[in-house]
Amino acid sequence: MKTRDDSTRNVSIIGTGLSAIFAARIIQERSDRKVILFDKARGVGGRLATRRSENGKFDHGLQYFDIESISGIPEIQELIEKEIITSISGSNRFFTPGGMTNIAKYLLQNHQINKEHKLTSISSRDKGFQISFENGKNYVCDDMILSSPIPQTLEILENSQVVVNSDTLGSLKKLAYNMCLVVMVEANNKLEKRNNELGLKVANGKISWIGDNYVKNVSDTINFYTIHCSPEFSLDNFDKSNDEINEALDIELQAYFHGGYRILSNHKWRYSIPKSFYQRDTSLVLQSDGFLGLCGDIFTNGRFDGAIQSGISIAEKYLTYDF
Ligand SMILES: Cc1cc2nc3c(=O)[nH]c(=O)nc-3n(C[C@H](O)[C@H](O)[C@H](O)COP(=O)(O)OP(=O)(O)OC[C@H]3O[C@@H](n4cnc5c(N)ncnc54)[C@H](O)[C@@H]3O)c2cc1C
Repeated sequence: MKTRDDSTRNVSIIGTGLSAIFAARIIQERSDRKVILFDKARGVGGRLATRRSENGKFDHGLQYFDIESISGIPEIQELIEKEIITSISGSNRFFTPGGMTNIAKYLLQNHQINKEHKLTSISSRDKGFQISFENGKNYVCDDMILSSPIPQTLEILENSQVVVNSDTLGSLKKLAYNMCLVVMVEANNKLEKRNNELGLKVANGKISWIGDNYVKNVSDTINFYTIHCSPEFSLDNFDKSNDEINEALDIELQAYFHGGYRILSNHKWRYSIPKSFYQRDTSLVLQSDGFLGLCGDIFTNGRFDGAIQSGISIAEKYLTYDF
């Protein structure tokens, strides 16, 4: 239900990941403000990421999620009813048949999105902003919400005419994320060792997770596995070539896939799961005239439910702000 009539205000949201999706939906649902989303990527979803390779698909970002703390949110119920998300009976690990990006595609179907728009700087105008993108385009908006990982947000702010309180800036600068190298393989045989219904969590070594995309119905082809490397291995090898990374993993991969395997794709997440968190609030308002807010999983718990809670938090702050 719309609670405000302020159709002349417009807000630009940077990102199309979970926090941005929920910020956009809440604002659109509860007000007449115009919402436009921008993402630097070709697709939507951010770390909700799925990639096709040969005859199958891989979730290469988020693998599965818990909905306990967010089960009352109408969108979550709708995603379950529409069978966009599901879990294996008796488990609280939810996933998306067809791939994680389906969540973003479904929830953003009625939203205006500009893809391949990487925000580079923000200039303050009379009660609003001019925002400039790497592709040379510029737009004017009243208000802004940034959901980009904090180091990327800080880079944008450094190129911008936005004054940020030095105490806040200091705490944002301390925030950091783990890197994650991802290898997507087709194995000749099924993964034998598993410690949950969706794959194998590994405590030590170069690999931290092996996810089965066939069990999740992400891939129609059997034995399509997503390998996440450990934070330590990812940090030490992040700047190496894919060939060097794949070679360094060969002995461990052979130990898991005795019958042989083929690497179909690689991905590098510079910002995967936060390793430190913003402790003061679940989102942050940097400036209030026009409104400039930040959200994202680093403001909560670094996970699916936390990213959603942070998006809702910034939308509610925005909607209750008296301009
Ligand atoms: C490898 C990996 C495994 C994970 N596993 C799990 C898991 O099993 N369970 C779980 O609950 N969580 C997991 N997570 C964490 C989960 O994916 C995140 O918590 C959540 O998706 C974050 O959403 P977000 O909106 O905060 O950020 P993001 O999804 O990162 O969204 C940020 C968006 O901003 C865009 N952007 C950045 N800079 C710019 C710019 N300058 N201009 C325009 N757009 C920009 C990006 O393209 C992106 O779309 C995992 C993450 C990774 C990477």
